[in-house]
Amino acid sequence: MKIFETHAHLDFPDFNKDRNNLIQTCFSSGIEYIINVGIDKNTSEAGIRLAENYENIFATAAYHPHEAVHYQREIILQLAKHPKIVAIGETGLDFYRDRSPRETQKKVFEEQILIAKELGLPLIVHDRQAHRECLEILTRNNPENVVFHCFSGDLGFAEDIIAHGWNISFTGNITYKNNPLEDVVRLIPLDRIFVETDSPFLAPQPLRGKRNSPLNLRYVIEKIAEIKGLTPKQVAEITFNNAVEFFLSKTGRT
Ligand SMILES: [Zn+2]
Repeated sequence: MKIFETHAHLDFPDFNKDRNNLIQTCFSSGIEYIINVGIDKNTSEAGIRLAENYENIFATAAYHPHEAVHYQREIILQLAKHPKIVAIGETGLDFYRDRSPRETQKKVFEEQILIAKELGLPLIVHDRQAHRECLEILTRNNPENVVFHCFSGDLGFAEDIIAHGWNISFTGNITYKNNPLEDVVRLIPLDRIFVETDSPFLAPQPLRGKRNSPLNLRYVIEKIAEIKGLTPKQVAEITFNNAVEFFLSKTGRT
């Protein structure tokens, strides 16, 4: 079973003690590719360093909405030129924590959408309690290749995203009990779905509260399989192909 981990933060200090061992274990346990996602200058640079050390790790560059006040266009433009950068992200809006002013978040999100378009790179969107505003800014700028990471909206919102030709990525939060996301998983076509852990965050149900790692991606895959009435192998294979096409083929990285 080949697995594509589309969103992890392996550069975070949570992995300082065992980073290289963990990565080796991932690659010997069926994980074929990992995308390490940046949230600011330092983490994007750290992701690039990891990607330089491991052939099957790729990186992204962006300022997360929490970091929007620190945004510098020139830095993203420069980092995005690196041959192992496969997306601009994660960027978007977070009206749950509001760590940067909302108007700044919106401006910085829009600027990074334009960079993704300009460079022909996919866009990884972080949207927390800002569904309407994210959709409004995206629709106005209409980038081609978009994934809503750690999807947290309802079915209607998911259908809007799919209708625009965009994609949805699920994390371990779909394994939590009494979850309204089950309907979204059931009804969204599998060829528009990616899987991710968002490690070190969002450990799936049996490990909830602990440090997450890409090794736990199988829980996300198993949950999608259970909801859709497929085998985990089928879910792994289709989401793998989706992610290869979106992040690697379209960007000329394979
Ligand atoms: Zn993330």
